Amino acid sequence: MSRFLRQEGLVYQNKVEALKIAIIGENQNLKNALQQISEQLGISKFPYPENEADYKIILDKAEYFSESEENNCLRLLFLHDGVKLTDIYDTKGGSPSLIQLPAFAMIGASLALQEVIRRSNCIRRVNIVNKQIKIEYRIDTSGYEGNHSELREFQMAGPDGSFIPFKIMPLEDDSGHIKLVSSLDLSNQDVNEILESTELLDMVQPQQEIQTSVVEFRVPRQTGMVSGSAAIVGSGGLGSWALYAASKGLQNAGCSGAGIELAIFDPDMNVEPHNLNRQILFNQKDLGNPKAPAAAKKIKEILPYSDILFGIQNIGMAELDSIDLKVHNGEEESKIEEIDLGVELSILSPQTINDVFSRSKAIVSCVDNLRTRVILSAISSKVNIPLINAGAAGWSGQLDIIIPPKGCMICRYGEGIARNKKIVSCQEDNEIPVSSIVTSTSIFGAIQGLALLASLSNESDLLQSWPKQLFWGGRSNNISVVPEDSSFPFSTCDTTHEEHQISALQTV
Ligand SMILES: [Zn+2]
Repeated sequence: MSRFLRQEGLVYQNKVEALKIAIIGENQNLKNALQQISEQLGISKFPYPENEADYKIILDKAEYFSESEENNCLRLLFLHDGVKLTDIYDTKGGSPSLIQLPAFAMIGASLALQEVIRRSNCIRRVNIVNKQIKIEYRIDTSGYEGNHSELREFQMAGPDGSFIPFKIMPLEDDSGHIKLVSSLDLSNQDVNEILESTELLDMVQPQQEIQTSVVEFRVPRQTGMVSGSAAIVGSGGLGSWALYAASKGLQNAGCSGAGIELAIFDPDMNVEPHNLNRQILFNQKDLGNPKAPAAAKKIKEILPYSDILFGIQNIGMAELDSIDLKVHNGEEESKIEEIDLGVELSILSPQTINDVFSRSKAIVSCVDNLRTRVILSAISSKVNIPLINAGAAGWSGQLDIIIPPKGCMICRYGEGIARNKKIVSCQEDNEIPVSSIVTSTSIFGAIQGLALLASLSNESDLLQSWPKQLFWGGRSNNISVVPEDSSFPFSTCDTTHEEHQISALQTV
């Protein structure tokens, strides 16, 4: 299965791979981040020699003079409190704090490479959500004596001889025929070859002139000490970046992890090959293994003195119910479980979950369905800690920060989302498959990582001064912050947020 499967629906992968981008300047943090993201995008040679390159990224305050090629040059500039993509003559930047710097570098590198992808017309005009080879057998059953449902005595065998599941459907053309319908699994080598050699051709010529985009991402500067616990739910596209950005920031600020506890929840039993181009914490060795312990192991390597718990599990209604706000200080309950990668299944007990959420300073929601986001929002209301929620799919991403007692997911998005269990993710076996690309997940995961650091800060109310909602669109490469005084309902509510969220969740 191609590592780039989930991004090929968004970009012309061959064009991305052939991009010739030079970098100018010596800033090592930006260099490393660009190298990492370019590798995950599949750019085959990066950086490219300056005299042969089509695009140039000037790093931070490096000197650069140009007379003619401005449209192909951009500057990636650190700010005191963020990062900015700007024109090549703008050098009025600043120096971020050590703890925020790695995340700003990741966000900046993603924005810069997104800008090149955008300007070089690598972006498809429509997103291809899925491509598959469909197999249909049309069957005339007129000579068949059994019941149609008994057709299960037949099996469909795939190219490698193994059985593939199929559906039985009647044909509505008065022929009396029926259809056996199946689609071939992408893990099969032959199928993969056929799929990779097909292409959806866009017959409209791309527009050549694309407006230059100036993008700025800023959040309150953070310099103080950090300590305490947090829960991270979901360790895939967003969660892996959130954990990585936060732990790299701590490491960069000289923290070994002492005094930090992170609890990672993810029910996903399987790191898949197409996860590897976006999900920063995983590599080839993790394929086929559950995500939560693999993520925990990587974070432990970055922060050796941190306490990392993990549960290969969902956070659902049972977990919401199990939170009774009494922290159990008994030796056994609070004992941190050793990470044992030999263990196939590791599920935290209701009591441990209660303890984890009750002592957490924030919940980072990186999940793939709306109902779970509401459950996490209800837990955040119940234990009175911030919810740091993000979503990224295709070319868009979104961040929501909800700080109790002000607001909740239901007040922002309506009761309907409590009943919406549809899983929208890049995994093969979900209901709504989505294409996704590293730029969107790294930007939003890193933003969540920064917000997580802010929530663990000893500087009082740092997260309070963060934007409560922001959006990014990859086609325009534009970040927009929704002002808190807008007409958007940030906190309207008759009862308490906890109560009406639970009642919405209980209405099926
Ligand atoms: Zn509410």
